[in-house]
Amino acid sequence: MPYLDNNATTRPIPQAIAAATDALETHWHNPSSVHRDGQAARHALELARADLASLAGVPPRQLTFTGSGTESIDLAIRGVLGASDRETLITSKIEHAAVRDLAEHLESTGRVRLRWLRIEEGGVIDLDDLDAALADHPRALVSVQWANNETGVIQPSREIHARCQQAGAIYHCDAVQWIGKLPCPESDAFDTPPADLLTLSPHKFHGPKGIGALIVRPGVRLRPTLQGTQELGRRGGTENVPGALAAGAAARAAREWIADKSARTTIAARRDRFERAILEAIPDASVNGRTRDRLWNTTNIAFPRLEAEVLLLAMSERGLAASAGAACSSGSLDPSPVLLAMGVPPDNAHGSVRFSLSRFTTEEEIDDAIAIVTETVARFRRVPA
Ligand code: PLP
Repeated sequence: MPYLDNNATTRPIPQAIAAATDALETHWHNPSSVHRDGQAARHALELARADLASLAGVPPRQLTFTGSGTESIDLAIRGVLGASDRETLITSKIEHAAVRDLAEHLESTGRVRLRWLRIEEGGVIDLDDLDAALADHPRALVSVQWANNETGVIQPSREIHARCQQAGAIYHCDAVQWIGKLPCPESDAFDTPPADLLTLSPHKFHGPKGIGALIVRPGVRLRPTLQGTQELGRRGGTENVPGALAAGAAARAAREWIADKSARTTIAARRDRFERAILEAIPDASVNGRTRDRLWNTTNIAFPRLEAEVLLLAMSERGLAASAGAACSSGSLDPSPVLLAMGVPPDNAHGSVRFSLSRFTTEEEIDDAIAIVTETVARFRRVPA
């Protein structure tokens, strides 16, 4: 079955499974215990921390384990606001719901003034608008993703960071879609990742779900949202040792894979072939978001006059797993707020499906996926409206 769904989260890798199994069998103990077995678990946890930190290009001390990418985002945003008198949150409507919904919640409770950034056609934030926002609110907290989970469009994180540094703002970067897929820092010319805080989530690079990490750069003050002594007091709660060890193994494998640039060029070429074949076979289909400066694994395609949910179910029956950037509500699929914020017309947004390849997607899976998508769309197009 071709799995082109949900940013490649569906494929486990043997290294991660072996690490989780080993942890369950040999590191059952609490890593905060002072006895020998506890300290063995602590040692294994610290090695995993080093593996993840190395994938992100930072020293291990800067990395805090959390329960998910969503929790890391929550800790970053609430933590910075809680430790300072900053009153403005600058972010965008193309962020993951973990940022967008939190931002709206914090505004509704009166904790922040919210400033949404303008989005240019193609799905990139408007840097001139960021300049204007920072001129009005230089001590803001800024949260802008590195790459978009629905379209793969890459944001100019280094420019955003530079502007925030100049203004005196703090920059949190949701790097969930970047770290583990592309080098971090993004090129050898830079020796630090471009943000004051970065969120990562191992299930985006074949690690397990239910574990995340937040990177906090030196000098950034953070008030914990879960009290406790663990994680240097940044995040209370006994650590998820099997999850962390599996994440560490996934980070090692991802780092090795990223080191060979030709590997991602190969997968990007498969994604491009898939995209070309769909656009040729279905003349009114179109790609959402710009097609340059994108993640190598993602495409988001609009099929006007069709409902994404119906397509997803029908494709799944034929053996193709894909997803839509949308939430199910009262039996119908709301169009993705991200696509609407990018200016995608509602009719296109309703019929948009995202296809995500993984490191392991083969040419044969692409052939199968092309056949399933084109035949499914043709079948529904034959049904009179
Ligand atoms: N941010 C982005 C860009 C994501 O793609 C995701 C996951 O889909 C998250 C945040 C949330 O991460 P998690 O699923 O680990 O909570």
